Amino acid sequence: MKAVRLVQPGHPLEAQEVPVPAPGPGDLLVRVKAAGICHSDAHYRAGKSPVHPLPLTLGHEVAGIVEKVGSQAVNFKPGDRVCLHYLATCGQCIHCRQGNDQFCISGAMIGKHRDGGYAEFILIPARSAFRLPQEIPFEQGAIMMCSSATSLHALNKARLQTGESVAVFGLGGLGLSAIQLAKVLGAAKIFGVDIIPAKLEMAGRFGAVPVNAANRAPVEQIKSLTAGRGVDVALELIGLPLTMQQAVRSLAIKGRAALVGITDKRFEVAPYEELINKEAEIIGVSDHLADELPPLIEWVRQGKLDLSNVINRTVPLEAGPINETLDRLEQFGQQGRVVITP
Ligand SMILES: [Zn+2]
Ligand SMILES: [Zn+2]
Repeated sequence: MKAVRLVQPGHPLEAQEVPVPAPGPGDLLVRVKAAGICHSDAHYRAGKSPVHPLPLTLGHEVAGIVEKVGSQAVNFKPGDRVCLHYLATCGQCIHCRQGNDQFCISGAMIGKHRDGGYAEFILIPARSAFRLPQEIPFEQGAIMMCSSATSLHALNKARLQTGESVAVFGLGGLGLSAIQLAKVLGAAKIFGVDIIPAKLEMAGRFGAVPVNAANRAPVEQIKSLTAGRGVDVALELIGLPLTMQQAVRSLAIKGRAALVGITDKRFEVAPYEELINKEAEIIGVSDHLADELPPLIEWVRQGKLDLSNVINRTVPLEAGPINETLDRLEQFGQQGRVVITP
């Protein structure tokens, strides 16, 4: 089969002919119908985040059709539409048993630690496959497995309650999913913070109050929009020390700031004024859980999470257009999503 693979970090991906993998007893062989090209993939290609073993097929946002089932994968049959949780987990270790499968001792991420979806077929443990309803196109099934799932995990980690207020810092793919999911979870008021007018307008269309941080300090704006109170939940989805600080400073009494964006830089907190005095919390968010995927899929099916405007282009399973897409992601960041349709 054809696969587009990372052979050497810092170099373009290469198309290679590789054998179609054979499913073990608990595995599914899935014919890939859609694989999202994610900003993380640009980091992997550049060598900013280690991928091993090499060569390896990239692609961690995958949806397709079950082609073959292992003898113990009894919940699936050939022809089933599925979307894939990007972590292949064991289901046995202490973390898996406690429901923290993102820390699975032998967990391997598809497209990073084992072959991913930039290929005609992918092998996945059946426990990481979820049925994709007919109403959801494969392209949407693929991309919701990454950014939308992480947004949901962030809101869950922040323990968002019905009637609470939320500020979302960063209105890319994660942010627009976060706004819609916060609404589904019953948020009373949602503020969308960014500096790009088109993103603010999109956030407004999904029901958030746009807060343009280019005009005036966003914390001041959020405070004045909440009668001085601040928000119950703040999500930081950018990965900048400045916006992390703003997320913390925008919190109300008992507020929770969930940090999703990645940086190796430090940010400052005034312990008494910003945390202790109001019992505020700063919470780290890593990936998402398999258990969070079924409700997410259902909300997309019901149209409560609308991903129809997120995908702006599809490309064939060829090294040229995939590398060009990754080049563009490196140069301009995320501008809508591109999905490979083999
Ligand atoms: Zn991704
Ligand atoms: Zn495990």
